[in-house]
Amino acid sequence: MRKKVRIGKIWIGGGEPVAIQSMTKCRTEDTDRLLEEIRKLEREGCEIVRVAVPTDEAAQSLRKIRNKIKLPLVADIHYDWRLALRAVEAGVDKIRINPGNIKERGKIKEIVKVCMEREIAMRIGVNTGSLHPEFEKKYGRGVEALVESAVYYVKLVEDMGFTSMVVSVKSSDPVENVIANRLLHQRIPYPLHIGVTEAGPPSWGVLASGAGVGCLLMDGIGDTIRISLTAPSVEEVRVAKRLLTLLGIRKLGPVLVSCPTCGRLEIDLFRVVREVEKKLERIKIPVKVAVMGCSVNGPGEAKDADVGLAGGKKRAVIFRKGEIVRIVDEDKMVDELMKEIKRMEVEYDEGG
Ligand code: SF4
Repeated sequence: MRKKVRIGKIWIGGGEPVAIQSMTKCRTEDTDRLLEEIRKLEREGCEIVRVAVPTDEAAQSLRKIRNKIKLPLVADIHYDWRLALRAVEAGVDKIRINPGNIKERGKIKEIVKVCMEREIAMRIGVNTGSLHPEFEKKYGRGVEALVESAVYYVKLVEDMGFTSMVVSVKSSDPVENVIANRLLHQRIPYPLHIGVTEAGPPSWGVLASGAGVGCLLMDGIGDTIRISLTAPSVEEVRVAKRLLTLLGIRKLGPVLVSCPTCGRLEIDLFRVVREVEKKLERIKIPVKVAVMGCSVNGPGEAKDADVGLAGGKKRAVIFRKGEIVRIVDEDKMVDELMKEIKRMEVEYDEGG
């Protein structure tokens, strides 16, 4: 069992649910826009939000941000240790530093000291761009250098008497990411924050994260996750929720399945799926929804879905667990499916 660490109002590690984290994309100095982005993230289901603190002005914005949001706030610091001190002073809930680019022990000690005084957590983050020079020289830029650098910095901070740590090793290579985290998991007792860094646009990043984060989650590794995408931050949270739900780790909304279509197709399934997917964004209950291209095979093929539709010859069937509940006109099938899902929401709320 991992050690439990508090980040503002939530705990991570020690058997707590895997928490979803994202990082804001607009300039931290632009406080109003940033607050708007954080509110969107919170509505989408983000549980920890990280903001970049590259300047004094950004550090000054943190107090206002902290006072106006409910989510645990993490300050992301690179190079300038003084910005970490200012962020702690402004009341953030966690500091994320990369000791590899702060370098000097004395400066790291100053950050540790203020975190201890304020009783806030710190993430020690190591990626392939910030390895300890000794391990980079010895092992090159691979898995060993990532893991040994992280273990070294964890020990350094532990020796300063600090244990409210979260640790991450990240690579843009999903395979390297999995191997490094498996090794690190065996070496340290602290919660791990996992994610594939620089994973790319959604068309690549979802795959890279599905593999690089999904494999670890299936091993029971990872206490917080971030899906890094070259896309709006809400998209990162949406993908994280879907990944955790698909893996059965948390129930964070609906799952959509649809058939690949074939020569038996009887409706414009591509369009129907897009429509259903959009409407499901408003659904919060854990329900598996199937959208199938023909009524002959559809309900049977999607028997494990809680609810679904299958189109055919200007008509469509609405089914629950493979059993047909009614036949509707093709132009009403999406609305009828959504009505059925709304009914299930009521049943869910009533505990049925
Ligand atoms: S549900 Fe029908 S259309 Fe879709 S793949 Fe199966 S047989 Fe083909």
